[in-house]
Order: sequence, then C-alpha cells, then structure tokens
Amino acid sequence: MSKSIFSKIIDREIPSDIVYEDEQLIAFKDINPQAPVHILIVPKKEIPTINDLTEEDVNLIGRIILTAKKIAKQFNLSERGYRLVLNCNEEAGQTVFHIHCHLLGGRTFHWPPG
Ligand code: 5GP
Repeated sequence: MSKSIFSKIIDREIPSDIVYEDEQLIAFKDINPQAPVHILIVPKKEIPTINDLTEEDVNLIGRIILTAKKIAKQFNLSERGYRLVLNCNEEAGQTVFHIHCHLLGGRTFHWPPG
C-alpha cells in the first residue's frame, strides 16, 4: 500500500499548517477550508476508512474526539459550537483514505447537511 498524503504530512514530506501533535495524532489546517476554522485531526496509524477500525482502535478514536474538543477550545469555538465530521467512502465524500476527523467552526452550519 502506498503512503497516504496524510502520512506524507506526518513525515514532513509535504508541508502543512500543524496546530497540534502528540505520539498518536496530528492536527493541521485543511488546504481547502469549508469554514473559517477547518482542521483535520489524523491518527498517525494509517487506517483507510472507518470500516477498517477494530476494537484495538477504541482508545485512538476517543483521543481524536478529545483532541477535537481541545483544539475547538484553543480556537474559541467551545461556546459558539462546532461540527465534527468523519466521512466514510465515496458516497459520504471521503477523498483521502487515511481516517481523519474534520473540525469545522466559525460559521453557522445547517441540519440536515444536504
Ligand atoms: P475527506 O473528503 O476525505 O473527508 O477530506 C479530505 C480533506 O483533506 C479535504 O477537506 C481536503 O481539502 C484535505 N486535503 C487534501 N489534501 C490535503 C493536503 O495536502 N493538505 C491539507 N492540509 N489538506 C488536504
């Protein structure tokens, strides 16, 4: 399997605007932002889709959500609100097959998403 574009970002082969990093995760600004704040929270472990998650990844998924909460606070979104999105496969709009959580904020979002 060839390396995903996000693994290249993790390995600093491609530049990105990193806002958070620890042993398990990295978070950086989306190159094509859909909101004033649009950050991707990405596990360093390369998992192609949500369908590939196993029990072994329970802690990792928890860390992603808690890290999103922390970054939302950093960007003053906690009280205003923000949206977390995980797309799985083509119909949902997944384009990068290395799981990631979108953190979107700084504007109003509608529901249903359309
Ligand atoms: P998906 O559609 O797979 O849920 O989201 C992939 C996201 O990755 C898109 O919002 C897209 O703009 C972003 N993206 C794709 N390539 C790059 C890149 O090279 N750098 C950054 N920072 N974001 C990227």
